Order: sequence, then structure tokens, then C-alpha cells
Amino acid sequence: MNELWSEMANRTEPYQPGEQATGLDCIKLNTNENPYPPSPRVFEALQQALSSDLRKYPEADPQELRQTLADFHEVTAEQIFIGNGSDEVLAFAFMAFFSTSKPILFPKITYSFYPTYAALFNIPYTCVPLCKNFTLDVEALSKSEGGVIFPNPNAPTGIVSPLQSVERIVKENQGRVVIIDEAYIDFGGQSAISLLSSFENVLITRTMSKSRSLAGLRIGYAIGSVSMIDALNRIKNSFNSYTIDQLALTAGIASVKDEEYFKDTVQAIIRTREQSKKVFKSIGFTVLPSAANFLFVHHPEIPARQLHKILRNKQILVRHFQKPETEEWLRVTIGTDKEMELFFQQLFVAVDAWTNKSTAY
Ligand SMILES: *Cc1c(COP(=O)(O)O)cnc(C)c1O
Repeated sequence: MNELWSEMANRTEPYQPGEQATGLDCIKLNTNENPYPPSPRVFEALQQALSSDLRKYPEADPQELRQTLADFHEVTAEQIFIGNGSDEVLAFAFMAFFSTSKPILFPKITYSFYPTYAALFNIPYTCVPLCKNFTLDVEALSKSEGGVIFPNPNAPTGIVSPLQSVERIVKENQGRVVIIDEAYIDFGGQSAISLLSSFENVLITRTMSKSRSLAGLRIGYAIGSVSMIDALNRIKNSFNSYTIDQLALTAGIASVKDEEYFKDTVQAIIRTREQSKKVFKSIGFTVLPSAANFLFVHHPEIPARQLHKILRNKQILVRHFQKPETEEWLRVTIGTDKEMELFFQQLFVAVDAWTNKSTAY
């Protein structure tokens, strides 16, 4: 307890992002970044933006990017809200739709920003354990008092819930908001966008950080009813008028307009993911069925913490979450084929060394 700090600063337990390892020459498979560069059109657009008038504020309400995204998703521009990364969109959504008097629900194994935001904004919550096979407990998530949030596909498991399950959660939570964090949906599964025409209480969040290779520019957005988007704008405009800078706006539009590049790179990652899954299994790993750009893997003998360390010493970064329910697992982001080849070379050595060591004793 620091007496000079507010009650808010005192109670919050910050989210810990994966290591960025600046300056290290490593294979970075720990934060789900895209291994491919953004669309070449993004660089052309950025060149132009640099010669534009950076002296001026950007648009407070980025109409062109909203319209471009609306066309892409076949909704109206009024149904799109843009934020500085989807983490910011999620923070605004917690403030706009969840209350301090009614507990919200989210899965026990999930994106660890949710408990952080809940603590920051004083929103009570209950964590719903996953089913035995790591899928969502749809039944339990259908009965919330204050709303629900979950990623689809889930993180860090990578498992996608079928649209009927998502629909059931939305349908049975009438009068409470259900936020579906679709950070990874471009890599597999069906989006909940089709539910927007039947349900008022659903908000979908998306990011350009993963499938569009733009993590460095911080662009996220939400898709929902006009009234839900209104609520997000009320919060945002009470906080910061210009959350998206001019360069990000220009680049975001260029990225969405290059559908071919987007599809090609997403497909390449899916192919590498399926190939990598086979390799993991061939050397004894359990691998959850992933619809995302990462695999959640477990080795029956080598402790995940140890494996994380061995790989790190070889300049390979993967993610290990030090929580009881996931400490036996590693999350490995899908890199290029070349990166995965180098990764598996080191992994083979590590597995071999471990197996020989344990038989030697
Ligand atoms: C990466 C991620 C985000 C955050 O994306 P940004 O747009 O980079 O802030 C949100 N939710 C989940 C589940 C993620 O994995």
C-alpha cells in the first residue's frame, strides 16, 4: 500500500506482456506476432502519410477507416469503433458495458488482460473452468449476472468454439453484454458477425496486430450495434479524442484494401501451423487443436518451465505462463517455415538430451 498512490493504482496488478527481446538475435515465437511483413501497400501509404501534414491532429472520428472496415465486414460504418489496439477497445468496453455491482464471467484459462481490466475498473468476476478437453463450458457461460467476455478462438489454447455455442451464450445472456474477442478468428473458425442482425447484446473485437502484421501500429476495432458503438464513443471521447495517429490510420486503410496479400499470408501461417502440429506430435508432444496462429503444447516428461529455459538459452523465445492451470504447457507462435525448422532442430536436441539423461540415471 503506497499512501501517495490512488486506491486504483494500489489495487491493480498490471498485465505482463511477453518479452520483446530488443537487441537479441533470436527466433521470436512468444507474442503471436505475424512472421510476415505487412502488405507492401502499407509501406506505400506510410510514405505518403509522412509527407502529409503531421502538424495537425488526426481525425477524431476516423471515417475512412471505419467505412473501409465496414465494407470489408459487410456492416455499416456506424457499427465500427476504432481504438489504439484491441486492448484499448477492450478497456473501453469494460467501462462501457460492465458494472461494479454485477459479476461478469470469463473462462479460467483465457487472455490474462481480462482479470487485469476487471481489477482496474473494480468489476467483480467469476472464472469459469474449461471442460476436460479444454473447450469452453458453454452451459456455465450462459448464466451470467453482469455479462461475459471470451476470446474465440480462445487464448492460449487456440481452440475455437462453434458458432452455435457462441450463439447460445449470446442468446441466454439477453440484457447483458457478451464480448467476443476475435483476435485470432482470421486463422480459423466462424465469426460471430452474423449474430449482429439477431442480437443487440453482442460486441465483437478485432485486431490488426496478428493477421495483418501491424502490432507495431496499434490498431484494434469493435463491431456491434449502433447503440453499443455509441457507448464506446462516449467513453473514448471522455478520455482521449485522438487515440489513433495519422500513420496508423493511413496504414490500416491500405492493409484492409489489400485482400489478396492478407489471404495469402494467413493461408501460409495455417499451412505452417498444421505442419508444425504434426512435427510436435511425432516427438511426443500433446498439441491442442488450434484455430489460431500459435500452438499450445505439452510434453509428458519435460517440465514446460525447463523447456522454456533450454530454448531461451538457444535464443528461441516461446511463452510459458506461470499459473497452476497452464504451467505444464508452452504456447508457440507460428513463424515462417524457416523459423519453425530452426526451432524444431533445437527442440529435437532438447528432447533427445532430456530423454537420454533420464534413462542414464
Ligand atoms: C493479442 C491479443 C489482443 C490484443 O491485441 P492488440 O490489438 O495488439 O492490443 C487482444 N485479445 C487477445 C486474445 C489477444 O491475443
